[in-house]
Amino acid sequence: MNVVYLSIGSNIGDRYHHLREAVRALHVHEGLTVTSVSSVYETVPVGFTNQADFLNMVVCVETGLAAHDLLEVCKNIEHGLGRIRTIRWGPRTADLDILLYNNDNIKTENLIVPHPRMHERAFVLIPLLEIAPLMASPMVDTGVILWKKVNGVNDLLQGGE
Ligand code: ATP
Ligand code: CA
Ligand code: CA
Repeated sequence: MNVVYLSIGSNIGDRYHHLREAVRALHVHEGLTVTSVSSVYETVPVGFTNQADFLNMVVCVETGLAAHDLLEVCKNIEHGLGRIRTIRWGPRTADLDILLYNNDNIKTENLIVPHPRMHERAFVLIPLLEIAPLMASPMVDTGVILWKKVNGVNDLLQGGE
């Protein structure tokens, strides 16, 4: 089974409804199970800033689907929620991006994983860290890595070096 993190965003119409319908569509798909979901964050637009604020979240899914097939599922869900492509980074009812697919590095014409811009996007990193704090270390190229997991004050003060 493959463990995948997806980012979902919406800034048109009933944004929360669109996020929930996107997650529902993933969950009812026979090849996928949604195993965890982040909170929902309201975020200011980046890239093209003259548009409405987004709601964003990150979900974890387990799937037997290959990454490219999962991308097709994501595009179908976007389409089903009425996404129309206009300007780059413009308004959308639903945007589903593949952030991480196991620890794989994928570089093809229509799919790059880890998502090439995730590291610079707080609207992706904050919900991702909420549901997958340990995913931060090898994959997020911020110059900050998980060096040691500390399980409370006693672990820090009494544990060995
Ligand atoms: P950004 O990729 O910067 O978040 P966007 O989500 O607005 O921008 P889209 O118009 O949704 O961009 O997607 C453009 C293309 O990006 C898609 O058709 C898809 O083939 C490609 N793509 C490449 N890597 C990924 C990925 N990891 N997840 C989703 N789409 C990807
Ligand atoms: Ca995107
Ligand atoms: Ca996208």
